[in-house]
Amino acid sequence: MRPPITVRTAAKVNLHLGVGAPREDGFHPLTTVYQAIGLCDDVTAYDSPVLELSLLPADWVDSGAVPLGADNIAHRAAVELGHHHQRDLTGRLVIEKSIPVAGGLAGGSADAAAALVALDRLHQLDTPDDVLLRIAADLGSDVPFALIGGTALGTGRGELVESVADVGTWWWVLVPSVEGMSTPEVYRHFDKLVPDAPDTPPDAEMLLGALRTGQPESLARALHNDLQEPAIDLRPELGRLIAQGESEGALRGLVSGSGPTVVFLAESADHARDLAGALMRTGHEVVLVANGAVAGAHLVSSHA
Ligand code: ATP
Repeated sequence: MRPPITVRTAAKVNLHLGVGAPREDGFHPLTTVYQAIGLCDDVTAYDSPVLELSLLPADWVDSGAVPLGADNIAHRAAVELGHHHQRDLTGRLVIEKSIPVAGGLAGGSADAAAALVALDRLHQLDTPDDVLLRIAADLGSDVPFALIGGTALGTGRGELVESVADVGTWWWVLVPSVEGMSTPEVYRHFDKLVPDAPDTPPDAEMLLGALRTGQPESLARALHNDLQEPAIDLRPELGRLIAQGESEGALRGLVSGSGPTVVFLAESADHARDLAGALMRTGHEVVLVANGAVAGAHLVSSHA
């Protein structure tokens, strides 16, 4: 019996999300800057004669929205890694889930990255990094970033990632929504609202410059998300939430990715806690605090 392997895997926020006109393959070209933040799922792979999956959700996680069979992206990751090694990979994957589902935080992608790392280690496959990144890209546009973590520039449809200089410690307050949003629906709405989107998405130079200053006020000014307007148009309360957080002192509020989670940038750890308290007092039941950047999917224990 092999000892179980636990891998910790982070949520992401898009500090810059520039979206272009849909390509011929239907995907939108992106120029994005991802940051991995300290709101994490833990995925543990146990030795098992079959491939199976279970979920241990935090209170705020809509567990009913997570498929537990072959549709789960962590299950798909196991199958694809097995294909590469020309064998059926087995294991019992237990996902301790804190990342809200369908929240624009790429929680599913994070679990897929963790499953790749955990099963690779459980079965001592020694899969080269470039192969893991290729399998990750086939699984979903955000999965390669979930492997590398930190702060990274994403191009293509988001799957081509390279780490970027980020000297700051950034404090975020997150307000998830009870009900998730469908990423494809938000992109369809973007196409409707912006029929003349450029072939080349807006670049991230201003954001990358702000990261190099390490100053939260500079980063606040540079945050940008082309999916924010369509997300707010579909769900106007997100616009009201951003205004509320900013009136409570947030440096800036932003829809994360395709939403509906709203993230607020704070000046410091103490400021983040104060802001979270203020938002909770105004009736938001779930308000989370996380800092970034943190590592991509990484081993936290092998219970040898
Ligand atoms: P993205 O922006 O990458 O679409 P998201 O954060 O908006 O990500 P996810 O939490 O990744 O959304 O979930 C999107 C959908 O994927 C869910 O509605 C769910 O049906 C499905 N799904 C499959 N596997 C998982 C998983 N391990 N965790 C969460 N959702 C999963």
